[in-house]
Amino acid sequence: MDNIQKNYNEIMNNVRKSAEVVGKTESDICVVAVTKTVDVERMKELQKLGINNFGENKVQELLDKYDEFENINWHFIGHLQKNKVKYIVDKVSLIHSVDSISLCEEIDKQAKKYNKIVNVLIQINIGEDEKKFGIKDNQLDEFVKNALNFNNIRVCGLMTILPNTSNVEEKREFYSKMRKLIVDNSHKIVDNIDSASLSMGMTSDYNIAIEEGATIIRVGTGFFC
Ligand SMILES: *Cc1c(COP(=O)(O)O)cnc(C)c1O
Repeated sequence: MDNIQKNYNEIMNNVRKSAEVVGKTESDICVVAVTKTVDVERMKELQKLGINNFGENKVQELLDKYDEFENINWHFIGHLQKNKVKYIVDKVSLIHSVDSISLCEEIDKQAKKYNKIVNVLIQINIGEDEKKFGIKDNQLDEFVKNALNFNNIRVCGLMTILPNTSNVEEKREFYSKMRKLIVDNSHKIVDNIDSASLSMGMTSDYNIAIEEGATIIRVGTGFFC
């Protein structure tokens, strides 16, 4: 068995175990394989094993790879510049990293050209880390009110990237805060809490994230190391 197969088995096994802890199954968790800097060949290997969600954080890299694949849901997970929205808006299933109303405005404008409704998550800087993008949790209420004015955007939930820390308890606390935030706000954005998306957790901590309520995890190096 090569590494990708071995890593895949291990990750899916861990996802199943963590999901069980919170009364879910692995199919309740969307596993996005983060494929930045990973070549097409290795991505295809992962797709064959059953992954059909890829996440990229650079517009150009997504565009370079896009035509090489069929039946993939593309997730944009990096900081998105307004002038690049037009290149990806017709290609992505979910933009995880919406952090300004002016970005919403641009996504809405470009989406209209394709007669498409674009799914987005609002990025929350839950650790209030200067080096991370995202709005503060106390800005969410106002942000949602404004974002709901755009007809060609569907706000599906929230996303976060934690500050760099290896402190497990600290991570759990941040993820738990995110869970609370979505419970308190989901009624404003979706019909019921069960349909709200919460994108959090990477290779080092996706178990904790799932246990704290993640519905989408973003795993990169774990698959490709
Ligand atoms: C790179 C990246 C990931 C994946 O990180 P790993 O530690 O490699 O799993 C997840 N989310 C975002 C936004 C990223 O840029």
